[in-house]
Amino acid sequence: MATGSEWRNRCPEYEPSGVISRLVSVASVSGQWAERLDPAHLALHPQDEEQTDEQLAAQLGLSEETLSDLRLVCGVDTLNCLEETNRDVIPEDTDLVTSGIRRKAIESREERLIYDRISRQELFDNEHEMHIVGRKPSKPEDTIQPGELILSVHVYFPIIAFKHKEVKPYLTMLVLGSQKLTDLRDAIKCVSDLQIGGEFSSTPDLAPEHVSKDLYKSAFFFFEDTFYNDMRYPECRNLSRTITEWAESHDRGYGNFKMAKMEDRTFNDMWIKIGCPYLYCHQGDCEHLIIITDIRLAHRDDCLDKTLYPCVIRKPWFRTRKCSVCKLYIVRWVTNNDSFAPDDPSYFCNVCFKMLHYDTDGNKMGEFLAYPYVDPGMFN
Ligand SMILES: [Zn+2]
Ligand SMILES: [Zn+2]
Repeated sequence: MATGSEWRNRCPEYEPSGVISRLVSVASVSGQWAERLDPAHLALHPQDEEQTDEQLAAQLGLSEETLSDLRLVCGVDTLNCLEETNRDVIPEDTDLVTSGIRRKAIESREERLIYDRISRQELFDNEHEMHIVGRKPSKPEDTIQPGELILSVHVYFPIIAFKHKEVKPYLTMLVLGSQKLTDLRDAIKCVSDLQIGGEFSSTPDLAPEHVSKDLYKSAFFFFEDTFYNDMRYPECRNLSRTITEWAESHDRGYGNFKMAKMEDRTFNDMWIKIGCPYLYCHQGDCEHLIIITDIRLAHRDDCLDKTLYPCVIRKPWFRTRKCSVCKLYIVRWVTNNDSFAPDDPSYFCNVCFKMLHYDTDGNKMGEFLAYPYVDPGMFN
């Protein structure tokens, strides 16, 4: 454990000058808070901190009767406005920017309202709140330790430039400082991992057993000057080697990159810049930007069950692609050079695909190439 002055030397100034902070040692955040706070303030259970009435009265220099009178007069229940207030109605003259934005969103939704239902993000927030917020673990050994850090991580999805001009789809996860990089890697759900390779027009019923994640397990994170490769399985390859060899092959001015194993590092071991775009790459060329937007101490209202981390707190909504024939079911097949279809590629649900391309005995008709299709909307 580093001493106080060591922490100070290792930790940068608190305020970032621009959007991206200076290099921060993740563990130093916890170290500095531990130095400044009483253990009681770091505690994650109310009983660790709660004062008895007797202690409080002694601290305030009052009798216990006066204390209970004070509690009656100044309690939270007495904090009411004179007028009856409805918390669902946002006042017209509010100075609060977020309330203003919320009011505009509600008004525009009311104008366009067809079905009276909450938005998908609200639905997800409600579900998340039900499952995660304030959750206590069933086994004591799964409890988060006092002083644990929680990092907010944005994971961006590979984008289609013209389609995602305005909004880049990303999900936000909370990760514990003590978790390994592999925990984050396993929590990132991407359709590239579920692709099924191969052409199956002659044998559409022979469903392949393995998705690409089972076959190609290599992946890496790139933080600062280091590639962290996932080397947990014997078949994993060092995917970053091509990049480092390219950088070193001529004097390209990138300096020397370092290598480490993803499974050997926790976030507490890392030095990162908050707000800086880093990289997660898997399946050879599926690249996701990773941005750490916040590092903070866990508090008692957080989910205290460490088995539920990394937990997703925001998800993008992907539009599901519907079958081009029935426009009803989600696409399961994509075809090329299809003698029955006007478009190339064409998208079909399982029922329409079979009806159009095979006779009643299941024999292939016409010429086409067929590939299984995995819809990104499956994670909605
Ligand atoms: Zn991906
Ligand atoms: Zn269909």
